[in-house]
Amino acid sequence: MDIANLPIRKLNTLFNKKDLKPSELYSKIFDNAVGSEASLHAHLTLFEEENIKKAKESDGRFEKGTAQSLLDGIPLAIKDNINIKGYKTTCSSKMLSNYTSPYDATVIKKLKESEALFTGKTNLDEFAMGSSTENSAFGLTKNPWDTDFVPGGSSGGSAASVGARSSIAALGSDTGGSIRQPASFCGLVGFKPTYGTVSRYGLIAFASSLDQIGPITKTVDDSRILFSAISGQDSRDATSIANDQVDIPSDKTAKIGVIKELMEDGISDEARNEVSKVIETLKTSGYEVKEISIPIIKLAISIYYLIAPAECSANLARFDGVRYGLRIDGNTSYEMMENTRAEGFGKEVKRRILLGTYALSAGYYDEYYGKALQARKEMIDEFTRAFNEVDYLISPTTPTQAFKAGEKTSNPLEMYMSDLCTIPANLAGLPAISIPTGVTNDNLPLGVQIMSRALSDESLLNFSEIIEKEIQFDQQPKGWV
Ligand code: GLN
Repeated sequence: MDIANLPIRKLNTLFNKKDLKPSELYSKIFDNAVGSEASLHAHLTLFEEENIKKAKESDGRFEKGTAQSLLDGIPLAIKDNINIKGYKTTCSSKMLSNYTSPYDATVIKKLKESEALFTGKTNLDEFAMGSSTENSAFGLTKNPWDTDFVPGGSSGGSAASVGARSSIAALGSDTGGSIRQPASFCGLVGFKPTYGTVSRYGLIAFASSLDQIGPITKTVDDSRILFSAISGQDSRDATSIANDQVDIPSDKTAKIGVIKELMEDGISDEARNEVSKVIETLKTSGYEVKEISIPIIKLAISIYYLIAPAECSANLARFDGVRYGLRIDGNTSYEMMENTRAEGFGKEVKRRILLGTYALSAGYYDEYYGKALQARKEMIDEFTRAFNEVDYLISPTTPTQAFKAGEKTSNPLEMYMSDLCTIPANLAGLPAISIPTGVTNDNLPLGVQIMSRALSDESLLNFSEIIEKEIQFDQQPKGWV
């Protein structure tokens, strides 16, 4: 038995039975992280000293029988756009390369209360803009299944870390698919909760109306445990909502819809086959499955690439050399700002700021941003109609398996296409999960995505767990543990 492979509940049982100590688990996890770092570069920082001390404290609680939380002593990796007090939060940008967090994000505060350990900060596409973790100012991350391939993005470091068993689970952030897409590329579960159920306080903003923190894990149950630990209304995030869950059926009375538009052109045969496999399994178990059309999904990428850049151009205006991070001097304050932003931001971030500023400028606002907002409203309405007919919507998570490093870097539009299936859930604020279902001929994993109505996260997790048990995907990348 390799302890780094075990799910959280099982580890907790071993701790309680005194068959395993949190410090022993941590030392194994840390060795895995150090051992794989040179080949994968999943992490920007690894924390060791503090964890050795914390893991020992955790040992003590289990010895005395006073440990309360399922996450006590569980090593978690954190995407480097989430603030942990006293440590650097770089967003993989030169702009913040020397920025030390003066406070904890709400999710971190909650995980500290749960006595979880933080293994380190993981690599990402700069400011979470990208689909491959190649847009990092600090080098690219590789896919633990095959290092010629990308791990997906932007939470590629978190996915590679869990994939290589360098952490038990991780947090990522998802604005257009950045949790689900890398989870799919790395054979893991990636869960984007209903917008607002997890506080964004302390997550460095990319596109505030779309950003959502969530878990990347090996099992659905691990995602459930993390979601329950990090969710809840937070007065520090005005968009956060109470996690008042609605119950929808997850047993055989549940109705399943297959999204027609996400089974057509632009989706590889392999990705489609994974969905078909799950549908067959569900039908055999007695579920009702039918096709559902959501025509506006075809416009999701166009809508997203107006709204996300517009919000990012406003959010990133704060990086001006005055308040945070990098400052490159100039003769005037304007010159200083210009120099700082020219030097501090990478190519993709600049592209988005330009696009967003243009879309928001007087004269174009109604034509671009205003239209995108209208179309977003239409998308929400189309999903509402769909959820009057079915309880869950199923689709591929990604149009293809992971692509090779370098393959799409010179063609941003092609890169943007890899979020075709994931973006709609962000635009509509819905919970969505990717669960691994199989491997392709290249021995790379693929997942399927399931969505449900807002605030039905727990039912979605229950339903996903049923599929997880039926499909029994138990493969893992080789050579890391
Ligand atoms: N890949 C998408 C983008 O580049 C989504 C990123 C994300 O979810 N953070 O914007």
